[in-house]
Amino acid sequence: MSFTPKTVLVCTPHPDDAEIGAGGTIAKWAKEGAKVVLVVCTNGDKGSADPEMTSARLAAIREKEQRAAAKVLGVSEVVFLNHSDSELEDNREFRGDLVREIRRHKPDVVMTTDPHRRGFYQHRDHRITGQVTMDAVFPLSRDHLSFPEHKELGLEPHKTGYVYLWGSDNADTHIDISDTLSTKIEALKRHESQIAPRRNVDFEKFMRENAERAGKENGLKVAESFRVIEMRR
Ligand SMILES: [Zn+2]
Repeated sequence: MSFTPKTVLVCTPHPDDAEIGAGGTIAKWAKEGAKVVLVVCTNGDKGSADPEMTSARLAAIREKEQRAAAKVLGVSEVVFLNHSDSELEDNREFRGDLVREIRRHKPDVVMTTDPHRRGFYQHRDHRITGQVTMDAVFPLSRDHLSFPEHKELGLEPHKTGYVYLWGSDNADTHIDISDTLSTKIEALKRHESQIAPRRNVDFEKFMRENAERAGKENGLKVAESFRVIEMRR
């Protein structure tokens, strides 16, 4: 499938997940003229093994890293919801956050992590972000009686066209990222606090091999894979 959406809303559980799952596609679409908004659901304030690190300091570091990575990808706007890492809940507050951002930006494509991945263990924030994003797309942001308080913010109901789920066991869409794989890797490197403690892991090699594996399934050199759900006909 080769098309460029006009507006893409990316819901990432933590700073860095969107780069790993969809960074090549985000960079490709941004380059082709799409407006990309990145919604960062948690502040990643538990992601450190350093005993001297505090959550407040880590959240500030990760926000800075995320802004730098988003800039590399060509993202137009980053929204930080600032929920605590590993404490995300499927509650009215979080659902309202995502519905508000969907109504505000009116995306034709929403991207997030597949909440139904079974083949591998899953972080609870990933499961909950995927699930709540799907609920926010349909039916919550569509129905004017859901979160009626948004009307006071001047926001109207919105129907999203497609949801792209990364990290899926059942990927059905492979996007050629040969022009943007290096941008994806550059963006990932901005998450220094996450990469620095794993000096023994060759991130670049890991990302390249992943992209080659995804490409092989579909006759492409390097790709990212998604399960795509069409919401509207
Ligand atoms: Zn994560």
